[in-house]
Amino acid sequence: MSRFFSPGHAALRPYTPGEQPKDQQYVKLNTNESPFPPAPGVVEAAAREAARLQLYSDPESAAVTKAVADFYGVAPAQVLMTNGSDEILNFAFQAFGDARTGFVFPDITYGFYPVFAALNHVPYREVPLRDDFSIDARAYCGAGANIVIANPNAPTGLPLPVAEIERIVRANPDHVVVIDEAYIDFGGESCIPLIARYDNLLVTRTFSKSRSLAGGRLGFGVACESLIRDLNTIKYSTNPYNVNRMTAAAGAAAIAEDAYYREKLRVIAENRAFTTAELRRRGFTVLDSAANFVFARANFTSGAALYQGLKARGVLIRHWDAPRIAAWCRITIGAREQMETLLAAVDDMMKEASR
Ligand code: PMP
Repeated sequence: MSRFFSPGHAALRPYTPGEQPKDQQYVKLNTNESPFPPAPGVVEAAAREAARLQLYSDPESAAVTKAVADFYGVAPAQVLMTNGSDEILNFAFQAFGDARTGFVFPDITYGFYPVFAALNHVPYREVPLRDDFSIDARAYCGAGANIVIANPNAPTGLPLPVAEIERIVRANPDHVVVIDEAYIDFGGESCIPLIARYDNLLVTRTFSKSRSLAGGRLGFGVACESLIRDLNTIKYSTNPYNVNRMTAAAGAAAIAEDAYYREKLRVIAENRAFTTAELRRRGFTVLDSAANFVFARANFTSGAALYQGLKARGVLIRHWDAPRIAAWCRITIGAREQMETLLAAVDDMMKEASR
């Protein structure tokens, strides 16, 4: 830390992204990326736009906003496009949190929420998941704070029914409820239709996972017009050109190529069922995931040793040395042959452990 760093940030512990190794070719099952490239039309649209990079992007991202609004049956004024969904989540903490109005979220969830809270000096409280890692909706009723819940949750992959979310939204009319649907396309039911009826609901989405655009950085929020206006005030006070030209064009094309992505979702769901069954056959406990990853615990070794052992065998997964989940690992669902490589590496570890 330099002597110039604001004391207000001295205690900030930044988010640790999953490894993006440059040293070796790994089977990369650690950051929930899609194993499939963007649709051909998406690559062409981004390349065409590259020839106009001397010009600023449209601060309203009007074309991709309209494409998204039409796709989800909402008005463009109910949508805000952002630089990944991390940006809309940060905007939400900035717009709706302050020293008096904090946030609550599960004790086991996306690790960026406490970082956004700390960065913006917003107090937060963690609500424990049940022992089976499910979310107890009752614990969020009358929370006295804003709420952020990932649905499906990460890293568990467990979905929360829309009726339970609606119960939380109704029980907190004076606070904003943010539902982070980063993984909803892989299973579970979206609560975007609820925004027509509730002025305190913000749904966040990303193109990173189900639309193969993690490196493009495109996310968005859907909410009533007044919440979107507030979020725009933050955006125009931060970075009006937050979505670059190539990414905006790629995003609009990705909506137009929906059939391509629907087919990939089908393959991921098939590979998820295969991986879940094969890991269970090997004695793992695997949660029933609605996302593009599974949360699993081996019975022959620890979570840290599974992570290390697979890394040594060229397969990267994610492990957190955190309370309640130290025995568990999160494994991204990739292409079939990637999952077969994972299982072969697991078999090798099990053989070694039994020697
Ligand atoms: N929410 C959750 C639950 C996530 O796991 C991620 C991915 N790390 C994000 C949001 C943010 O993704 P992105 O910024 O790529 O849209």
